[in-house]
Amino acid sequence: MEDVIIIGGGPIGFINALGLAQAGVRVSVIEAEPHIINSPRAAVYFWSVLGGLGRLGMLEEAEAAGVRKQDYTYLVRSTGERIVYSMEILKGHTPRPYNLHLGQHRIAEIAMRRLKTFSNATVRFGTRLQKLHQDADGVTLSVVTEHDTEELRARWVIGADGAGSTVRRLLGLSFDGITWPERFVATNVYYDFERYGYARATFVIDDRFGAVIAILNNEGLWRCTYMEDATLPEETFLERLPHAYEAILPGQGYYELERASPYSMHQRSAQRYRVGRVVLAGDAAHVTNPTGGLGLTSGLFDSFALYPALTAIVLEGADEEVLDRYSTARRDAFVNRASPQATANKQLIYHANGGGRKLEEALAGLRRLATDPDFLWQRLMFTKSLETPPLLGASRPGYAA
Ligand SMILES: Cc1cc2nc3c(=O)[nH]c(=O)nc-3n(C[C@H](O)[C@H](O)[C@H](O)COP(=O)(O)OP(=O)(O)OC[C@H]3O[C@@H](n4cnc5c(N)ncnc54)[C@H](O)[C@@H]3O)c2cc1C
Repeated sequence: MEDVIIIGGGPIGFINALGLAQAGVRVSVIEAEPHIINSPRAAVYFWSVLGGLGRLGMLEEAEAAGVRKQDYTYLVRSTGERIVYSMEILKGHTPRPYNLHLGQHRIAEIAMRRLKTFSNATVRFGTRLQKLHQDADGVTLSVVTEHDTEELRARWVIGADGAGSTVRRLLGLSFDGITWPERFVATNVYYDFERYGYARATFVIDDRFGAVIAILNNEGLWRCTYMEDATLPEETFLERLPHAYEAILPGQGYYELERASPYSMHQRSAQRYRVGRVVLAGDAAHVTNPTGGLGLTSGLFDSFALYPALTAIVLEGADEEVLDRYSTARRDAFVNRASPQATANKQLIYHANGGGRKLEEALAGLRRLATDPDFLWQRLMFTKSLETPPLLGASRPGYAA
């Protein structure tokens, strides 16, 4: 019997697996697809999560593959106003006063490569969870591969199988919240935004052509995410893309589209993140619209709290009640902090806050980012506030620097 089986080989599955394997826990990752999914999704890792990636020994490689950045701009499309600020103020307070930009499949790949160096870890692609049954000693999982159905058994299971989580469904947990009436279109595009003075993270505020634009690598690839009405047919989104780009790309130069994908958007959370021997993490536990990059950020903070707690249970016989505290703390961070902020971000960038006086009020706040260091400090500390302090004390496995 494995100590832990993780369902889902996305960034959250592999990061939890790496943390557990590094500590000496026997762990398997089960992924339905034949490879790591590489559709354009999370791209921004805030300064506040970089220490956690460092503890997993994967930060150096992630930084070498991605782009470090400190600059931000809010651009009001209707007036051309630019509100510019930087993360310089964090210097001296953290060893890493910058964000890292990198496609999430690269983060998952880096974690998986490191994981495969541990003899106590296995990874199985093309293996889909179908059924789950738990008893007093463990969890029995029924999985299907291309050729076969198999039963696997583990003492503990992490459901990291994303927004449509089978684990969550099999646990009978509802996924409460809302689905937005718009769809997001995430595109990766080669375009020279810097030539037009765009910061490496630029939020274009507009009620029709709002966009989030962020650099992805040093070869000129950028993420440009915009929104469209979800009642338009999804299969023809690419036909509408040139029109959206016409409005969004500055200067109307030549662009090369690398990849594009439409997404529906939700604000939803499971009512709890633990049922017996099964725990949820990442999008399986909660989903948010991606404006402001709080989705995977929340999942990373889930993981940094979860794998040390499970390690302590498996290797040291710690009281499993710590998983209830995990569930309560992580749900609170999502429902009461990350999700409301992501909703406010969407409202500002893609709906110009409703326009008129409401937009003016929001802009007055944003202008303070450029002029008021205390205000900027509070803003930059927001993502740090989504972190759960060590559930079993900082000296336990997984927390050593
Ligand atoms: C356009 C867009 C932009 C985003 N940008 C950001 C950003 O900048 N910052 C940020 O923090 N977040 C962002 N997000 C959110 C981020 O992408 C998600 O939070 C992240 O993918 C969650 O990772 P995960 O590992 O929990 O789930 P996933 O990445 O969805 O991985 C789940 C895995 O489980 C597998 N699986 C599913 N069912 C089964 C099964 N039955 N058996 C076995 N395997 C299964 C799937 O194949 C998949 O590989 C963005 C999202 C979108 C859509």
